[in-house]
Amino acid sequence: MIIQRVVLNSRPGKNGAPVAGNFRLEQSKIADTIQAGQVRVRTLYLSVDPYMRCRMNEDTGSDYLLPWQLSEVADGGGIGVVEESKHDNLAKGDFVTSFNWPWQTVAILDGSLLQKLVPQLVNGRLSYFLGAAGITGLTALLGIREKGHVSVGANQTMVVSGAAGACGSLAGQIGRLEGCSRVVGIAGTDEKCSILVQEMGFDAAINYKKGNVAEQLRELCPGGVDVYFDNVGGDISDTVISQMNQNSHIILCGQISQYNKDVPYPPPLPPDIEKIQKERNITRERFLVLNYMDKQEASILQLCQWIQEGKLKVRETTVEGLANIGAAFQSMMNGGNIGKQIVSVSN
Ligand code: NAP
Repeated sequence: MIIQRVVLNSRPGKNGAPVAGNFRLEQSKIADTIQAGQVRVRTLYLSVDPYMRCRMNEDTGSDYLLPWQLSEVADGGGIGVVEESKHDNLAKGDFVTSFNWPWQTVAILDGSLLQKLVPQLVNGRLSYFLGAAGITGLTALLGIREKGHVSVGANQTMVVSGAAGACGSLAGQIGRLEGCSRVVGIAGTDEKCSILVQEMGFDAAINYKKGNVAEQLRELCPGGVDVYFDNVGGDISDTVISQMNQNSHIILCGQISQYNKDVPYPPPLPPDIEKIQKERNITRERFLVLNYMDKQEASILQLCQWIQEGKLKVRETTVEGLANIGAAFQSMMNGGNIGKQIVSVSN
């Protein structure tokens, strides 16, 4: 059977910005028949995420991520529908997902590596399982619960960087649901800032590309910062950390501003900021959602419940067509998306 697939065409280099041309769409073939235990699936949605930048390097710099190989099909979070099954627990028409879904229109996969999805849990919005009701939502929720030390009635102020992105837009809302009394976002456009405040219930948002971030932060967080959900690192994080309170907490979710640089993860803080961190006893422990998969099931149910109750507002930016996945990835790395970046694959 003839299919379309997207392979890694070239590597951007450790210090280079990825571009759409690093990927290539091509025709390929899969077997016409499937074996016992396998399913044939048609791809519906694919996710593009910042961690994929590391997979474009020959050495990902991390023991839990494998590099993509040149001229080999890329993979990541995906959702599809079963067209044919020789696996006992899966039937034609089932919706399924995997963290390692190949970027191709149709695939033959090992059924035991797929998770069956219940569309009703997300009001039929299947793509949410790649974002708010998937790994992104888990990252926001478990990051806050495991590293945020948020408690109801503690009058805590939370700041979120990368706030209009997939994780950030959920993290601010979850921070509030978990008990923070004030939530301030930092994002890169006025439109993003206005969505954060008007739709997502942030108290305020700062456009870091305009004006003085330190001054605005001081004004918007008069009692200092108690919890910092850090998606970006770099100058923005240095500015936030300078205004954090004694015994406060950083949720070290990601450092997207550093991903096109050949630096270790997590990147060390500049000496003056590290001094502040130590003197004020600010925690900054590495957080990796994959370390908390024992809490996945209960946490997904919590996220779905909030979505159904309208307590968690979800935004997606959808790009149509497998051919555009490289461009979607490039745009996401440049902050082009609001909420989760999804690629919808129609054949
Ligand atoms: P995303 O949707 O692309 O959001 C990231 C946001 O960061 C973008 O909206 C972008 O918008 C902003 N940004 C990009 N480059 C920036 C820069 N140089 N300086 C400041 N802001 C910049 O990505 P995501 O899926 O939410 O991921 C967010 C972070 O979480 C990433 O660092 C990712 O690696 C991390 N993550 C960690 C885990 C974990 O287990 N720890 C799991 C999943 C994701 P604006 O610049 O316009 O604001």
